[in-house]
Amino acid sequence: MHEVALVRAIVEEVEKQATAKKARRVNWLKIRFNSLTSHSADHVRFSFDITKTASPLLKDATLQLHELAPLLRCRGGHEFAGHHLPDVCPKCGSLEVKPVNDTGLVLESFGIEA
Ligand SMILES: [Zn+2]
Repeated sequence: MHEVALVRAIVEEVEKQATAKKARRVNWLKIRFNSLTSHSADHVRFSFDITKTASPLLKDATLQLHELAPLLRCRGGHEFAGHHLPDVCPKCGSLEVKPVNDTGLVLESFGIEA
């Protein structure tokens, strides 16, 4: 599953930063995602749960998810809620649609116990 690798990269980044801050543990972290790229909340949460068990710093951390609206915009400027990519504009039938919001799986912030 694609999400596991992405979430693992985020967990490793948090570990690195938390270690640099001499944290005893990480209490929470917040990940932003967009369901257009099939990173459903369930997938992200599942990936986090299996990844964090291997991390002494993060094993008790809670995950907060910030889901961006899966909006798409076609070449003609119509905006609509998409479910996946590629998609078709329901107004003009255009296949040239682009995500309005960032579609990455991104670490927004995290909280530590020093
Ligand atoms: Zn359109």
